[in-house]
Amino acid sequence: MMTGTVSPSPHSAPGGWSAALDHLAAIVGSRHVVTDPDTLAPHLTEWRGLYRGRTAALVRPGSTEEVAAVMRLANELGLPVVPQGGNTGLVGGQIPFETGAEIILSTLRLNRVRAVDPASDTITVEAGVTLAAVQAAAEAAGRLFPLSLAAEGSCTIGGNLATNAGGTAVLAYGNTRDLTLGLEVVLADGRVLDGLTGLRKDNTGYDLKNLFIGSEGTLGVITAAVLKLFPKPRAIATAFCGVPSPAAALDLLALAKAHAGPAVTTFELMGDTALDFVLRHAPGARPPIETPTPWTVLLELSSPVEFGLSEALEAILSEAFESGLVEDATIASSLDQRAAFWRLRDMMSEVQGHEGGSIKHDIAVPLSALPAFVDEATEAVLALVPGCRPAVFGHVGDGNLHFNVSQPVGADKAAFLAGWEAMADAVHRIAARHGGSMSAEHGIGRLKRDSLPDYKPPVAMDLMHGLKTLLDPRGILNPDKVLVSRQPARGP
Ligand code: FAD
Ligand code: ZN
Repeated sequence: MMTGTVSPSPHSAPGGWSAALDHLAAIVGSRHVVTDPDTLAPHLTEWRGLYRGRTAALVRPGSTEEVAAVMRLANELGLPVVPQGGNTGLVGGQIPFETGAEIILSTLRLNRVRAVDPASDTITVEAGVTLAAVQAAAEAAGRLFPLSLAAEGSCTIGGNLATNAGGTAVLAYGNTRDLTLGLEVVLADGRVLDGLTGLRKDNTGYDLKNLFIGSEGTLGVITAAVLKLFPKPRAIATAFCGVPSPAAALDLLALAKAHAGPAVTTFELMGDTALDFVLRHAPGARPPIETPTPWTVLLELSSPVEFGLSEALEAILSEAFESGLVEDATIASSLDQRAAFWRLRDMMSEVQGHEGGSIKHDIAVPLSALPAFVDEATEAVLALVPGCRPAVFGHVGDGNLHFNVSQPVGADKAAFLAGWEAMADAVHRIAARHGGSMSAEHGIGRLKRDSLPDYKPPVAMDLMHGLKTLLDPRGILNPDKVLVSRQPARGP
């Protein structure tokens, strides 16, 4: 796919690398400067297999001070650094380029929960703590940390912050940005921005933390965060509903909100092809409803108020049946059944690999434009590749669809994937025409970098380049991700 600016190879600066690695070892300890190819291998490829990078070393600092010392050294040497957390990112931002001129800074040893403050409803965690561990720490304190996504067992809170991750509870709680009160960030030159405030009100000038959230490792290394906690739900009611169309799904969402307001926590739409892939490839998966419908919805209500939620869900469904919005539905009658519904949704990305090549789009449009987007995008991709199979699902309550397209049965995978850019361009243009975004939640990274200027106003691009130059004047932080570097970094 796209390639980055070619930096000098490690061999072009004799002695440079070995001195740099010695300095790094003096900071983090030699066993935390990884150069062994087998240990490096899983850090050089990503989940979708789109990118394969090279590196001279992966460094594992164990504290903010060590991250700061690594960045000071990198800045002095002009050594480019790729921050990496759980390596579950879907746009290639965490993978170094093929030149081998970058080091990887792994945050996985920054894995402490520094504080839980139930009275303030906050938790302070280091960047390398996994999302699942943050959820568990909140739970142990009798609270909820609501960010939730299928990669939660391995993605880190630093990666969630760096990509402003969304997931399946945005409808009720917002995305990672909305859940963050304060950040600690190591800047490109090694200075530490200490913004670990847990304040909910603090109008003392510019909101610096929001620059780093969603910056995909290009503006600073996030080392810790203060996050918001919420009351733990005491009642949860979950339904799996068959609906005739995306328009009916939106009417069902409106009905659910009218009956249950903020208790509508999740509203996930799944197309029949996407569901069929799960049923065929996820061991033990079964259809929760008997009637086949072109679309299904996973609807979940949750509330700290113990009573009335099941009644609300039943009222929603009975009204929806009467008005033809829902053709079949099941309410989970046990935790196991709820888990089975959720598993169908959670497996949806993973199983697409079993159906050959898949071209992924992560778009958002205003809710009202969603049915038109689905029709137009389906028509456009079928015109480009007759027989291709849109396997669509997403967080429809947020107007966010993963409009993924699987290759035609029996087609050549490589030939199909070679059409990625043309198909993405067609789909992104339709989203843009409806006032939408070509990256709702996964970010830009490497995958969408070259098309970003086609969709962002020139003034916004200029400001982004200006901020990059201000915060990373030597261009050493994840260069050529999100933005094409104007001053390529040089290795040691
Ligand atoms: P990585 O992949 O390691 O890094 C991602 C980016 O962040 C890179 O650019 C990296 O350089 C940067 N980065 C990482 N840590 C830091 C740090 N401490 N400081 C600065 N920069 C850093 N995303 C959603 O939004 N919603 C979903 O529902 C969702 N579902 C997913 C389901 C699956 C199965 C998978 C594999 C991914 C999914 N994602 C989803 C993608 C999501 O962005 C990542 O899972 C997660 O947020 C990235 O965390 P990570 O620790 O793996 O980061
Ligand atoms: Zn998603």
